[in-house]
Amino acid sequence: MARWKFPVGIFKAMRIAWINLWRKNIVIQYPHERYELPERARWSVEMTLDENGHHTCTGCKICENTCADYIINIDVSVDEERNKHINHWLYQRGACMMCGLCVEACPFGAIHMGKNIELAYFDKEDLTDDLLTDTDAVKPPRKERPAPTAKSEPVSQEAAHDGAGKTGKSTKEEGGADGDNS
Ligand code: SF4
Ligand code: SF4
Repeated sequence: MARWKFPVGIFKAMRIAWINLWRKNIVIQYPHERYELPERARWSVEMTLDENGHHTCTGCKICENTCADYIINIDVSVDEERNKHINHWLYQRGACMMCGLCVEACPFGAIHMGKNIELAYFDKEDLTDDLLTDTDAVKPPRKERPAPTAKSEPVSQEAAHDGAGKTGKSTKEEGGADGDNS
């Protein structure tokens, strides 16, 4: 009985080899050929440039405070006229877990997750990048506040106090009236 197991195994192996022989090749000749990355693929953090090739970072440091791994370190100085100057925008690519939280937190769309997968270097110093060096920060656009309407006008403390007094009195009066009724 055991004699028949040997040829069966051979035929099974030949069948699998035959199927795989006609399968589409999944190995590519990198670097001559490259995979097309999925649209949502994300690698390291990169600066987003506007149509004129300028960065849009305001130096607010929200991304730095969002990163749980302390990967981003932004050095900003402010002059007498409250203009911000970005001295360094340091990014430790080698330690980044590429979660994308910093990109989501940036209110100005100044950074994005890049698609450069070739991030191997010979020198570990190259794993830290200065994405912005010695450059002026962009001033954030100011939001127009809606004009105050009659309903949204602030109530003065005295008026609020009077109102509260009147309310208290009327409540008391109502309570008294109720008491009388009972
Ligand atoms: S990248 Fe965005 S969140 Fe980070 S400092 Fe610049 S503007 Fe602020
Ligand atoms: S992608 Fe994640 S780990 Fe990398 S810098 Fe942004 S928040 Fe930090």
